[in-house]
Amino acid sequence: MTAEIIAVGSELLTPQRVDTNSLFLTRRLNERGIEVVRKTIVGDDRQRLAAEIRQARGSSRVVIMTGGLGPTLDDISREAASDALGRGMAFHPEILEGIEALFRGFKRKMADINRRQAYILEGAEVLHNDNGTAPGQWFEDDEGILVLLPGPPRELEPLFEKQCIPRLERLKSPYEYHTVSLRVVGVSESEVDQRIAPIYSAESRVATTILSAPGDIQIHLRARASSAEEARKIAESLAQKVEDELGTSIYTREDETLEQVVAQLYCERGATLAVAESCTGGLLAQRITSVPGSSEYFAGGFVTYSDGAKTGWLGVDAATIEKHGAVSRETAAELARAVRQKAGASVGVSITGVAGPTGATEKTPRGTVFVGLADDAGVEVTQLHLGGDRHRVRVLAAQTALDLLRRRVA
Ligand code: AMP
Ligand code: MG
Repeated sequence: MTAEIIAVGSELLTPQRVDTNSLFLTRRLNERGIEVVRKTIVGDDRQRLAAEIRQARGSSRVVIMTGGLGPTLDDISREAASDALGRGMAFHPEILEGIEALFRGFKRKMADINRRQAYILEGAEVLHNDNGTAPGQWFEDDEGILVLLPGPPRELEPLFEKQCIPRLERLKSPYEYHTVSLRVVGVSESEVDQRIAPIYSAESRVATTILSAPGDIQIHLRARASSAEEARKIAESLAQKVEDELGTSIYTREDETLEQVVAQLYCERGATLAVAESCTGGLLAQRITSVPGSSEYFAGGFVTYSDGAKTGWLGVDAATIEKHGAVSRETAAELARAVRQKAGASVGVSITGVAGPTGATEKTPRGTVFVGLADDAGVEVTQLHLGGDRHRVRVLAAQTALDLLRRRVA
């Protein structure tokens, strides 16, 4: 079964506002085996909206609208739905009484304009809104289902959970779905796709999506079958082939971040960690400490941004910096060793690089980053050549450091 979502509101067509309701709705619909095939955003324009509703109903069994149920005259979802269905609306005095009672509770007088919210499409069921004045509406005929939901997420979400999910259960699709999500680090999106496209293209029962962020790629494999067990088998079998291809670049199959994976590894092994960061300015420490309970293994960190901080705080040899530069293999090695020793940690990690746009030299072009790792076995420095702007270089440097930590401890 397929669904379409229409987000209503002129504010959603400005650069300032994003339609997040459809993301929530898509997730909940997908979990119930209902595929969202189209999403649209329509401004507060009655004619355009009515045309969009007709079009959506013509192609999908379920059409969900969000927003445009407020009291003000720009909110026209009710009227547009009435136009599209060719049905009138009925005034529901009990809804008006409920709204009046809400206003009395706030010791305010209800404005006359709120009466608009007591109009319901003829034949529609009222979906009571526990968190606002605008009720939702559920309309069903031979052509399909049309749902009107309030715009504010804190009203829409509980209303959808409580009143729409049970109604949707009745029309469950004949299919069951199973999704496996894999997260990949250290490989570009195009390389991931090039390597796994031959694998997923050969399996038509699985819908594959690849989501990409700098240095972090998610692969979602969603299998469809007539039973849950069959869907699980199909998804797992394909996931295994993808894992065989990408190997240790896959850092998790769970819904977790790289820093969470590192946290778990360190906790399991009882190892501790200290960091010395230059070009990332604390980004690595920030990510490590974003995981609750990181004090178990994270001793602390230094942002040794200037040469003086490197020599003064951590005792890096001024001659090393003089001879090789602050952004060099040698300085990274000394920083990692020094911070490990200073903190008495099992592992010391350092990051020093040129995030740009300034600071580059011929020898160390922009995007050059050294990541040092010091432990009992000695110190190892990895040189990176990262592309992109300052933000991207810093994000990728911290991401790579986390990945090196994962690989070292695993
Ligand atoms: P409305 O029901 O059109 O009066 O919308 C009321 C408020 O809900 C808007 O000002 C937005 O803050 C929020 N809202 C409306 N539509 C959406 C949407 N699709 N995603 C997220 N927030 C929304
Ligand atoms: Mg609106």
